[in-house]
Amino acid sequence: MDTDSNSCMIQRDVDLTEANTLRLSSTAAAKITIQSIDDLHTAFQFHRSEKIPLRPLGDGSNVILGSFINACILDIAIKGIEVVNEDHDNVWVKVGAGENWHEWVSYALSNSWFGLENLALIPGRVGASPIQNIGAYGVEVASYIDSVQFIDLHPSIDRLESVKNYNNKQCLFSYRNSIFKEKNNHRLIVSVTFRLAKSFTAQLSYPALCDAIDKLQLSCPNADDVFSSVVNLRNSKLPNPYEIPNVGSFFKNIEVDSPTLNRLLTKHSSMPYFSLPNADDKPLFKIPSAWLIEYCGYKGRREGCLAMHAKQALVLTNLAKVKDGEGLSAEDVLKFSTGIVHSVYQEFGLSLEIEPQQINE
Ligand SMILES: Cc1cc2nc3c(=O)[nH]c(=O)nc-3n(C[C@H](O)[C@H](O)[C@H](O)COP(=O)(O)OP(=O)(O)OC[C@H]3O[C@@H](n4cnc5c(N)ncnc54)[C@H](O)[C@@H]3O)c2cc1C
Repeated sequence: MDTDSNSCMIQRDVDLTEANTLRLSSTAAAKITIQSIDDLHTAFQFHRSEKIPLRPLGDGSNVILGSFINACILDIAIKGIEVVNEDHDNVWVKVGAGENWHEWVSYALSNSWFGLENLALIPGRVGASPIQNIGAYGVEVASYIDSVQFIDLHPSIDRLESVKNYNNKQCLFSYRNSIFKEKNNHRLIVSVTFRLAKSFTAQLSYPALCDAIDKLQLSCPNADDVFSSVVNLRNSKLPNPYEIPNVGSFFKNIEVDSPTLNRLLTKHSSMPYFSLPNADDKPLFKIPSAWLIEYCGYKGRREGCLAMHAKQALVLTNLAKVKDGEGLSAEDVLKFSTGIVHSVYQEFGLSLEIEPQQINE
């Protein structure tokens, strides 16, 4: 372990098995914990002198880590929650990238800042929330992001630049995607500014959430009711990644146009689908990948130490006993998931896309 002059610790040959929720065996050339923008200067000097890339990481709940990552992992731990503006209807809050996502959602609710209730209990840190535009129960975080503050770490840059700002439009948010999700993204998010509402409007478009709220038989559900219903629903369906290692949905849902949907319905009339809001006149539909995977017989199916979860077919779980030295690698996971992709393609002619990001170098 080395220490640099600013007392920001540089660790070498770091085991990342505990730093990713799929518990894959992985080692990185180096790791630095970033608690402030000052710490990034240390990281940048290290990157220049050792000629290895810098790769940000949060809680590792949406990554497939390669066995050896020849990079310096930046463990983003920048904290802070600050109200930066408000008017009659809204409040703008800047939140450090290292804050825990669920704790931030709870904190917002306790201050009567509304909008994020449906996104409760999503694992990870605030800095990762714009990366894939996290979404759940009919809400995407993009609807509440005012702007994202980041530092550009592009390899061509020879000195650390000042913090830049993208407004919501510049982030190019779409379904589980943004400008920050490109391969080897070089924009390191240091904080996210949210615009939240001062009055609560329940967002109950997602059928399972709507049913759960109906069962409470309330004349007018409040934000706490929605928040707790989301927490209960998630706990009943999704395996806790710290007990059964997983990264949530392993595949994205599939979007198709009308002719493709009609072709599929001719053979599979019971296939579920949902209309998507779209900017142009071309209708788009979402097909739940969980249904496709279940149809192909993979729900609950185990191959070696990997299995698709019995309660949620989209969730790939790692059942290996890491402590006994049986740790799995990214290759094992990709081999298993490729079998699923092939089955779904053969049956439906649709290509499943992996949701978590692969970090190999
Ligand atoms: C049980 C479970 C349920 C889940 N449910 C959902 C869900 O409902 N909806 C959903 O959208 N997701 C879900 N996820 C996925 C995951 O929780 C989110 O994607 C989350 O935002 C990842 O946060 P993280 O801190 O773990 O990011 P990491 O996994 O550490 O990183 C993800 C990617 O973001 C990059 N990154 C991280 N921080 C920064 C930063 N500060 N600057 C630049 N790049 C950065 C990393 O390099 C990596 O490419 C779930 C995961 C699990 C395990």
